[in-house]
Amino acid sequence: MARKKRDDEMFGPVCSFCGRGLDETIVVPGPDGVNICEDCAHQVLDIADEARRQSGGILVDTRKTYAKKSQNEAQAPAKPEPLGPVPSPRELKEFLDKYVIGHEATKKILSVAVHNHYRRLESSAAEATRGPEFADVEIEKSNILLIGPTGCGKTLFARSLALTEAGYVGEDVENVVRYLWQNADGDTAKAARGIIYIDEIDKIASKTDNVSITRDVSGEGVQQALLKILEGTVCRFPPKGGRKHPDQEYIEVDTSNILFICGGAFVGLDKIIAERTGRNVIGYGAAESGASEEASKKSGPLDVRPEDLVKFGLIPEFTGRLPVVTSMSELSEDDLVRVLTEPKNCLVKQYRKLLAMDHVDLEFAPEALRELAKAALARKTGARGLRAAMERIMTDVMYEGAGDQGSRKVVVTADMVKEGLK
Ligand code: ADP
Repeated sequence: MARKKRDDEMFGPVCSFCGRGLDETIVVPGPDGVNICEDCAHQVLDIADEARRQSGGILVDTRKTYAKKSQNEAQAPAKPEPLGPVPSPRELKEFLDKYVIGHEATKKILSVAVHNHYRRLESSAAEATRGPEFADVEIEKSNILLIGPTGCGKTLFARSLALTEAGYVGEDVENVVRYLWQNADGDTAKAARGIIYIDEIDKIASKTDNVSITRDVSGEGVQQALLKILEGTVCRFPPKGGRKHPDQEYIEVDTSNILFICGGAFVGLDKIIAERTGRNVIGYGAAESGASEEASKKSGPLDVRPEDLVKFGLIPEFTGRLPVVTSMSELSEDDLVRVLTEPKNCLVKQYRKLLAMDHVDLEFAPEALRELAKAALARKTGARGLRAAMERIMTDVMYEGAGDQGSRKVVVTADMVKEGLK
């Protein structure tokens, strides 16, 4: 896109997408020098609405603005809207493939679980039309435990499926459900059918009998509180969070039909499994135990049993409420190269787009990508290390290459990466 040179360019932020400045539109500065203008933001929302429409109701509108409802309205009896067509597990997996590299087994498990979640919600209505055979059969929900090292894509799964994310909220577990209610625009019925991703669930393991020394001592109490929500209870919380007091307005959400996906790195679980099986586990966390790079490339997922999780510090009732356990492997060097180049919003595509606005055709030599992957691997933070490494080398490239200098091509070589990361 041709961008006109403006004298005032130095005096204000310029939209990183269309190149216009404050003299033409409203520009909102973002992190890392990336800005967006009002018009481009509208376009993003349109694209998101379209994606939501095409996802057949799976992608939930997560915009935080929700209409303030009166107490009566907010607590009106659940009146669910029709669900719309439920995507098949295959469709869901194809959707995930666009964003997440690797983790085939986990993708299948999540796709089936999300599909079943919506089928289960439909089931009571379906009994009327499908005859009495299944009338007494209640489909239990299958909450999921995602185990995988830092930066392997657990949160990315949750974001791709537009699930409500909650971090570790030891002090007030009701917040987990409150976030979902907020994401459902304050619609109690909609919240009661949602899916919640709880991150860092391993942090609530109790200290006894486990290998890590950094655990929360009060873990068991938090597990008991979360357990109730996982099992299904009417969760009461003030709409804005904070302390409860008697004359406050409360929201009530029944959690019986909410699907919970919990994620955590569970550092040290491999050793517990190794003790049980009498075998040394290669791969998972192998980088920490000093195994060779070659070994971590071949790493497979862990064979986790409930008793291993109990030994790690989860109470048996809690593991009992997470019947589906999936373990994700560390991303290999090859995976990291794919993370850089393949997903829809991968870093290489983002930088190519950014520089295309300055008429630069940016290319990365394959060896340069490999160097970036190696640097990320060395940081032991999975794909998270890629962004840091990329930003370091791209600052120089952008400094030299960006600006109105006419059309040209810039190739990032392995030497440039090595130099930039020194
Ligand atoms: P985790 O929650 O497992 O610690 P994240 O999902 O937060 O890791 O990963 C951090 C970032 O790294 C993601 O936002 C994404 O950009 C990238 N990433 C991680 N794993 C993958 C993957 N398997 N495929 C594509 N990108 C990934």
